[in-house]
Amino acid sequence: MSLRIALIVAAGRGTRFGTVLPKQYALLGGIPVIRHTLTAFLNHPRINAVRCVIHPKDEAAYGAAAQGLDLLPPVHGGATRQESVRLGLESLAAEDAGIVLIHDGARPLVDAATIDRAITAAEAHGAALAAVRVHDTLKRGGDLVEATVDRNGLWRAQTPQAFAYPLILAAHRQQAGAVLSDDAAVAERAGHKVAIVEGSEDNLKITTAEDLARAERLLQGSAPAHGLSVRVGQGFDVHRFGPGDAVILGGIRIPHEAALTGHSDADVVLHALTDAILGALGEGDIGQHFPPSDPQWRGADSAIFLRRAVEMVAERGGTIDHADVTILCEAPKIGLHRAAMTARIAELLDLPLRRVGVKATTTEGLGFTGRREGIATQAVATLRLPADD
Ligand code: MG
Repeated sequence: MSLRIALIVAAGRGTRFGTVLPKQYALLGGIPVIRHTLTAFLNHPRINAVRCVIHPKDEAAYGAAAQGLDLLPPVHGGATRQESVRLGLESLAAEDAGIVLIHDGARPLVDAATIDRAITAAEAHGAALAAVRVHDTLKRGGDLVEATVDRNGLWRAQTPQAFAYPLILAAHRQQAGAVLSDDAAVAERAGHKVAIVEGSEDNLKITTAEDLARAERLLQGSAPAHGLSVRVGQGFDVHRFGPGDAVILGGIRIPHEAALTGHSDADVVLHALTDAILGALGEGDIGQHFPPSDPQWRGADSAIFLRRAVEMVAERGGTIDHADVTILCEAPKIGLHRAAMTARIAELLDLPLRRVGVKATTTEGLGFTGRREGIATQAVATLRLPADD
C-alpha cells in the first residue's frame, strides 16, 4: 500500500520578529510553532509519515522542537521555497509515497478537516489545494483606486496542497527553473488541473509578530486538538530530624540545631516539588526515578532530581508555568531564607521569581512537626503539555 506523507516546509530563515531564530521556531502557547504543525499531521489518522525540510543552520533548533516526535529524519532545503520542496520530494523516492501533502511549517493551526478534504480531493483528482474565498472587495491602484476587481471566483491559496507523488515530483523537476509562488502553481504550469477545497480562516501563516499574536488568541480561544492542556501536580514529603547542625531546604543550607535525615541531602522542599512535577506528568514519584536503595544518590544534591523532572517536562513538549511550596515546621524560621530559596527554585525551574511561591507555617505545636520531630512540605506545580499528550 502506498503511503500518504506530509512534507512540512520549514527551510526559510526569514524573520520579521527581530529575533535570531526564524518564525517557525517562535513559541506559540509555549511550544515552537513547527511542533504544532508537525503534531497536527502526525495525529491525523490518514497520514502515514511526516518529513520536515529544514535549513542546515536550524538543525539544533529543529532537534529541540521535534524532540520525541515520531518523524522521518529531516532533510535540508535549498535557496528558495520551491527548491526546498523539490529536494523534499526527491528525498521521498524510497518511501513508497502515494499522496504527498505539502504544508508550510509556519501554518501551525491547520485543522484535521482541512487535511482530510485535501487528501480526498488529491486522491480523486491528482492535485488539490486548500483555499479560502475572498470576501473583501478588492481594489487595484496606488494612491487612487484605478479599478474595483471582481472578487467572484477568487480564492486565497493556503496549504496543505496535496498531490499524487509522481505527478508533483515530475512537475517540480520540470519547473525547476521557474519562479512560482506555490506548489499548485507548479502543477498548473505542468498542465495539471488542481482541485480547490475549503481551507480555514484560522489556518493562518505566521509571518509577522501580529500573526503570532493572532495565533495565540486563536489557540487560547478554542481548544483545538493540537493546543495545550494545563496539568496540575501535587507533592508531599516528610523528613525526620537527626543529629547535625544544618538543614537543606529549597536548595539552601540553613544552620539549625538538627539536620534532616534521608538518603540524599534530605531536601524535603525539592523532593515535594519534584513529586509535584512528576505527578503532573503522570510519571510516578521520586522514589521510582531515584531509588533510595541506589548508592549513587547517597548524600546527593536534590537539585539533580528536580532538574531531571524539568527535563522530562521538556521531553514531553511541555512547559512549567508555576510552582508553589508550603513548608510545615516550627523551626528553623524560614522567613530569613525565603528569598534565597525562591531564587534557587526559580533557577532550577527556569522560571521568573514571580512564578515561584515559597511559604511556611507552623502547625501551632500540633502533630509531628509541632513536636519538632521533622519537617513536612507540600508542593503544587502547574504545567502545560500538548493537549494530545
Ligand atoms: Mg524525601
